[in-house]
Amino acid sequence: MKKSDLSVHARLFPDIKHLQGVAKKYGTPLYVYEAEKMIDQYDKMIQAFSSVRKLSIHYACKANTNLNILKLFKEKGSGLDTVSIQEVELGLLAGFKPEDIIYTPNGVSSTEIKKVKELGVRIHIDNLSVLEHFGQDFSSSYPIGIRINPHIVGGGNEKISVGHIDSKFGISYYQLAHIKRIIEITGLRVEGLHMHTGSDILDVEVFLKGADILFQAAREFQDLEYIDFGSGFKVPYKEGDVQTDIYELGKLLGKKFKNFCNEYGKELCLVFEPGKFLVSQSGYFLANVNAVKQTTSSVFACVDSGFNHLIRPMFYNAYHHIENLSNPSGRLRLYNVVGYICESDTFGLNRQINEIHEEDVLCFRNAGAYCFCMSSNYNSRYRPAEVMLYKGQDHLIRKRETFQDLLRNTVEMAF
Ligand SMILES: *Cc1c(COP(=O)(O)O)cnc(C)c1O
Repeated sequence: MKKSDLSVHARLFPDIKHLQGVAKKYGTPLYVYEAEKMIDQYDKMIQAFSSVRKLSIHYACKANTNLNILKLFKEKGSGLDTVSIQEVELGLLAGFKPEDIIYTPNGVSSTEIKKVKELGVRIHIDNLSVLEHFGQDFSSSYPIGIRINPHIVGGGNEKISVGHIDSKFGISYYQLAHIKRIIEITGLRVEGLHMHTGSDILDVEVFLKGADILFQAAREFQDLEYIDFGSGFKVPYKEGDVQTDIYELGKLLGKKFKNFCNEYGKELCLVFEPGKFLVSQSGYFLANVNAVKQTTSSVFACVDSGFNHLIRPMFYNAYHHIENLSNPSGRLRLYNVVGYICESDTFGLNRQINEIHEEDVLCFRNAGAYCFCMSSNYNSRYRPAEVMLYKGQDHLIRKRETFQDLLRNTVEMAF
């Protein structure tokens, strides 16, 4: 574990003037992504696992599915991790080859799985009955991967911890015998084993424990080509936050992996599927302060957004650091930053922020992952525009919605 270093973060912060300019040019609320930061994070992973001969990073695109971000990672040589047929289709549209796309669904219909098979991507199965049906239909003609649940506890947040005993994800490690029986009877070919234990792994040790369980399971399969350790890397949100020490993980897991391959008698590919790690810190959400409201107990800064645009604080108490772009050296004062949705809609409680005036622009950090993609039109508001900063230039990568967008699929009845 390593203390995060917000000063490093600050160094990468795009020029405040540039962000102010972008807010002025495109209006608020606005998502801004820094391409170089995404590339940086990708390169870090490659570096951390440089001791592994066959390494494959698959960007988990549910974190942010803007087509341009998919294309950016494709340019870098990344693969793609998807959880729905629509994400698979977006990936193909972005130019990924089918064999570079992994599809790891949970609880989807067998019709969808068959359609995805037609697209030729790698499929990870996480359910015994699906495994059995797939095996009966396709036997050894279409190799698959299996998602194993190693029953390790990811970390802090229970809503995003998916590897524990009560989780709906994966086939339990304790059901290996059943998996093997299905494979024997149907002739299925298993080329990959996979685990993904949630998004909040605090500790390298927990990861290594999961790896050991996966290696243990891997000894039961003869035709493996790869082992996929999923993701769960923790990123820092505020000063003092712990984050996954990717270099330490690279060193320790790399060694374990090498030992395992020696024992297995084959150079397997090591796969990761990071989402948050690659894009979270690249994103900034900019919102305008509509009103500053003093009540008997506190001061509210009310912005032109709400949980319709950024749901993470309301959904699972995520912390997003908030700064005042318009008055960066003003006196620090305490604020509750809230949205305009007609429910309680709190982005941040008791935050120390440089003095806020109406019409100031606030900046929310870590807005690259699970932010825009979870936005909605609740309260009949438009979803924000998205801008990519790339080589010092700003590029509009998604237009702000209009009234027409709200009505697009509405079918009017006659009364
Ligand atoms: C969501 C997801 C990921 C990415 O998780 P992060 O915490 O964003 O890195 C990876 N693999 C699978 C199967 C997922 O569902």
